[in-house]
Amino acid sequence: MPLLVMKFGGTSVATLDRIRRAAKRVGREVANGYDVIVIVSAMSGKTNELVGWVNETSPFYDAREYDAVVSSGENVTAGLMALTLQEMDIPARSWQGWQVPLKTTSAHGAARIEEIPTENMMGRFEAGMKVAVVAGFQGISPEGRITTLGRGGSDTTAVAFAAAFGAERCDIYTDVDGVYTTDPRITSKARKLDRIAFEEMLELASLGAKVLQTRSVELAMRYQVKLRVLSSFGESDDQAGTLVCAEEDIMESNVVAGVAYSRDEAKMTLISVADRPGIAAAIFGPLAEGGVNVDMIVQNISEEGRTDMTFSCPVDQVKRAERAMTEARSRGEIEFADLVADTEVAKVSVVGIGMRSHAGVAAQMFKSLRDENINIKVITTSEIKISVLIDRKYMELAVQALHDVFGLDKAA
Ligand code: ASP
Ligand code: MG
Repeated sequence: MPLLVMKFGGTSVATLDRIRRAAKRVGREVANGYDVIVIVSAMSGKTNELVGWVNETSPFYDAREYDAVVSSGENVTAGLMALTLQEMDIPARSWQGWQVPLKTTSAHGAARIEEIPTENMMGRFEAGMKVAVVAGFQGISPEGRITTLGRGGSDTTAVAFAAAFGAERCDIYTDVDGVYTTDPRITSKARKLDRIAFEEMLELASLGAKVLQTRSVELAMRYQVKLRVLSSFGESDDQAGTLVCAEEDIMESNVVAGVAYSRDEAKMTLISVADRPGIAAAIFGPLAEGGVNVDMIVQNISEEGRTDMTFSCPVDQVKRAERAMTEARSRGEIEFADLVADTEVAKVSVVGIGMRSHAGVAAQMFKSLRDENINIKVITTSEIKISVLIDRKYMELAVQALHDVFGLDKAA
């Protein structure tokens, strides 16, 4: 039997009625001749509520108990989905992560999947079961404790099952009808993409597009899982959504595929640090240990053996960064004259595999920002991406201008 993985996000299982609608979609694929593995999220808002309860009970919580609590939302929807399918006379049963067992590392709250044994579930399919409903986002550690895969982790559960079972496709049902050239709330000219390459999706996801968990895209790329993002709200059954696929499967594409943004960034500058071998290690080591996710880094030109070092990080980590740097200074590991934080910046990025073969994308981007009178504070580039840090108040203007200049409102 051909096999499909269908994943339903929180809004798609938010009420009993939505669960019934999702189950009908599953029923139609069963009628089309598929065995189906359904991965469910918790009802929307549930995981946030559970996280809130944990924090209120114990601010410095035991991460194992955090996972015990926070994984529970998915258990409810998995059982309800199995019951709904049974009511439709479709042979179905639910699995919690540990029952599969979906084996993970013991990094509680951010565990990585190590192995998904398939024999047991395959045996059930062979014995006539049509749908296996699996609670997303959760697994079991080598120590036998419940783990979770990080927020948004059900996407990763879905892709991992698709890879392990060699599914024909992995359909991610969500509240938008696909992947857009940029956030439609920022410009009404945003356009749904028919296809996007794994690499582009990976950049967009890690740059702040919320539609898929970054690790799910990583996994899909590694195992060449065909991923489709589509809406569970559309009435029609033949909606195409967006296919996330290998570059070779895309005939024609724009040089730039999308514009991403991240609103809550901060730019930090250490003034007058010694320009000597090991200085970067002395700065970024303590930042990493202090839990600061450093993104862009610029070392300025040095004069008389002193230099300024600039980096960016999420704005809610500024306090941690300041603490890590002051402590490193009091331990005598670094010296600096001042640490200046600019907490009013945002990052805007353009992404596209076409950049590999087209020169001039950066120049065009900078010119377009100049025309809007937007000052660029930091620039970083990779093979398929250019990111700039700008004043947050110009972020939307920048996204709109770049969307226009790269012609993203029109298909290639
Ligand atoms: N329910 C979890 C979350 O909200 C996992 C998921 O939905 O993907 O992060
Ligand atoms: Mg999600």
